[in-house]
Amino acid sequence: MADNRKTFVVLMGAPGAGKGTQAKILQEVLGLPQVATGDLFRENLKNETELGKLAKTYMDKGQLVPDEVTVAMVRDRLSRPDCVSGAILDGFPRTPAQAIALNKLLEEFNGHINIVPFINVNQEVLITRLQKRSEIEGRADDNAETILTRMKVYREQTAPLLNYFQERELLVEIDGDRSVEVVSAELQDVIRQAS
Ligand code: AMP
Repeated sequence: MADNRKTFVVLMGAPGAGKGTQAKILQEVLGLPQVATGDLFRENLKNETELGKLAKTYMDKGQLVPDEVTVAMVRDRLSRPDCVSGAILDGFPRTPAQAIALNKLLEEFNGHINIVPFINVNQEVLITRLQKRSEIEGRADDNAETILTRMKVYREQTAPLLNYFQERELLVEIDGDRSVEVVSAELQDVIRQAS
């Protein structure tokens, strides 16, 4: 029987692992939109919405925006017409509660997770990359203190999801300590194999 459910790819990896860069390439290749919660929050911040003002108080400190707020924003984003075939999730879920909420959203939107690529990069490389990004993009949360908080938040709240997805046989680890092109080629390979 044909599987007519929407397809979701969940990109996992620490801050600075290259999820955003890879998601942007994948969105062209797969024809699925990149849904990046960090970008959505930053858009709200720029437009000075109530959501943006709330998110800013957490983002500036490198902490996670509360789950209910984040899940409601993702739900709204997935309801838009460009997600008709699914999406590439970048930066969501980031907590066990968000992973459970995602399951409910998948039921609601008739979707399923195809694969969860985990872009693995070692911590020193990550910190150097984030510091470089702060010089280039000037992101307020790429300063030294916030970077350390984000790493800690990742280890404590997000990394446990790797096990969660592994148990569901969805996780595929990719060595992210290589060029953008090599990582992208491998990502495309593993996604194709999972389809
Ligand atoms: P990112 O661009 O993915 O590094 O996200 C930047 C910031 O946005 C994070 O440090 C959090 O404050 C917030 N954020 C992004 N995604 C989430 C999420 N799934 N849950 C909670 N907060 C998030």
